[in-house]
Amino acid sequence: MLFLELAQTFEKMEKTSSRLDLTQYLVELMKVTPSNIIDKVIYLIQGKLGPDHSSKELGIAEKMVIRSLSLATGISSSEIKLKFNEIGDLGDVVYKLNYNKSQSTLFSEPLTVERVFDTLTKIANTSGTGSLNLKIRYITSLLNNVSNLEAKYLLKLILGNLRLGIANYTLMDALAIGFTHDKGNRVILEKAFNVSSDLGNIARILAQGSIEEVQSISVSLFIPVRPMLAERAADSKEALSKIKGKCLAEFKIDGERVQVHKRGTRIELFTRSLENITSHFPEIVKMFTDLDVDNFIVEGEVVAINPHDQKFLPFQSLMRRRRKHDIQQAMEAYPVILNLFDILYHNGNDLMNLVFEERRKILEINFGNIKSDRLKLVNQKRVSNIDEIDNFMAESLDSGCEGLMLKDSNSRYRAGAREWAWIKLKKEYAGTITDSVDLVVLGALYGKGRRVGKYGALLLGSYSKEEDTFYTICKVGTGFKDDALSVLYDTLSKQIIHKKHPRVQSGNVHMDVWFEPSVVLEIISPEITLSPVYTTGRNMIKPGYGLALRFPKFSGNIREDKSPEDITTVEEIIDLYNNQFKQ
Ligand code: ATP
Repeated sequence: MLFLELAQTFEKMEKTSSRLDLTQYLVELMKVTPSNIIDKVIYLIQGKLGPDHSSKELGIAEKMVIRSLSLATGISSSEIKLKFNEIGDLGDVVYKLNYNKSQSTLFSEPLTVERVFDTLTKIANTSGTGSLNLKIRYITSLLNNVSNLEAKYLLKLILGNLRLGIANYTLMDALAIGFTHDKGNRVILEKAFNVSSDLGNIARILAQGSIEEVQSISVSLFIPVRPMLAERAADSKEALSKIKGKCLAEFKIDGERVQVHKRGTRIELFTRSLENITSHFPEIVKMFTDLDVDNFIVEGEVVAINPHDQKFLPFQSLMRRRRKHDIQQAMEAYPVILNLFDILYHNGNDLMNLVFEERRKILEINFGNIKSDRLKLVNQKRVSNIDEIDNFMAESLDSGCEGLMLKDSNSRYRAGAREWAWIKLKKEYAGTITDSVDLVVLGALYGKGRRVGKYGALLLGSYSKEEDTFYTICKVGTGFKDDALSVLYDTLSKQIIHKKHPRVQSGNVHMDVWFEPSVVLEIISPEITLSPVYTTGRNMIKPGYGLALRFPKFSGNIREDKSPEDITTVEEIIDLYNNQFKQ
């Protein structure tokens, strides 16, 4: 398949703000893509080289690309830099440069998608001495003899800034329509995606096999499962009324959720957004290596403890594990414990269809008697009335936990779903009006005064899974320490797009810059109010009005473990708004 075909589709996609158009372009592309490379095409559309959990990232330094571009075009690096400073995106620069393709020959082969994918993979896998020159050679070889349009999208891919605004859900819609002529089959694709986390592979199975084959995809070791999520209840009474089976209450620990996969000596740890974080917790890996139990996928909450009094420490203490050079020190200053709460797979058996009570039994049989400072089972108790829940909540808060998780003993593990089978109950729900929420940054206004050269206020949004759309909810400008402002400025500047993202409904709000929705912030606010400006929940409570956070403040927590599709949903905001009047 010619890369030019893909570049032409990218160009059409970049020019539209309509999701319907995007889906249509994708469907057309699927129809002309040979089935043996459809996985590669899917990854490239997402700006990736494979599924999130196993592929290397693209994103080569601009400097290196400028050098390659200079070599390929014969234009000096300084001239390219000048243009780059003016335009801000090297892909757009190369599109506008009418360069003389000096290296082209009459007989050179046109660029194919296969060659682009393979070369990008080589670039991502090249490291060590001499790698810089090798990478420049690879990039130059791709840029020789291509049209401006191909060069534009090659550079966007290489730099990791192809921002087409295509979410997994849009891709699944397109795959369902393109291959089965029935958008309703997206549900089957979504189920397969929730246990296999690899849309490229699903597309290939669909293109070369059938929807039935996709339906039979099940959990397997070392492929992370998208986690089951919890609804939130305002109080124990509401929680109890929602649980259908017997209610099993567990301590809710404020750490980081990890999924552990083990076979023999191979052990891998994944976050809730499916990132491989095995290297962050060497002591957990060692503990599992020494363990007799084998062949499983378990889930738990890893939490830092104070080495002097063994008390749980807040979530932030785990942040140092994210910096490679800090891990050894962090292991001493903040040792961790893994608190297991679920098992999804054991000895070749998919356990996700067993009810929770049975899964817990299997967890207890296999891990209940292990004597280790690093491993525990989450405290659990069967509760049947409000008093029992409230007493267990007091016990949980006493031991430094943040509340309770209430689980329906009869529920199956539903990967990726947020349902009333799991309910979170935190202590702050009782006292203040809203819990903290996680929102994605959509745009920004430049700062004034002390914040000149940085962003002054950030436009935040909530998410609707149904519509796969982000809705605005507030602008936030407080709670940012100077160093957080700089970090955020650097991170967000890489996500700038030249117009509002197609998956954002912003109404009439002016922004100096718009971003690809990617950075998630934890926000605290004392109240949710009706608003004529913001679009979250518009017309759902009162015609013409949406909902807004009043006096929003950044908590200091950048939720690197959450992807934009994992943030607080529009429905949750509406519930939080309604709950304010119950107290
Ligand atoms: P969410 O996971 O619901 O999107 P979040 O990441 O902000 O939201 P919380 O709202 O604090 O987290 O609550 C859910 C999380 O609580 C789970 O994803 C898990 O990481 C954690 N957790 C702690 N204890 C338990 C437990 N006993 N069972 C399940 N999850 C638990």
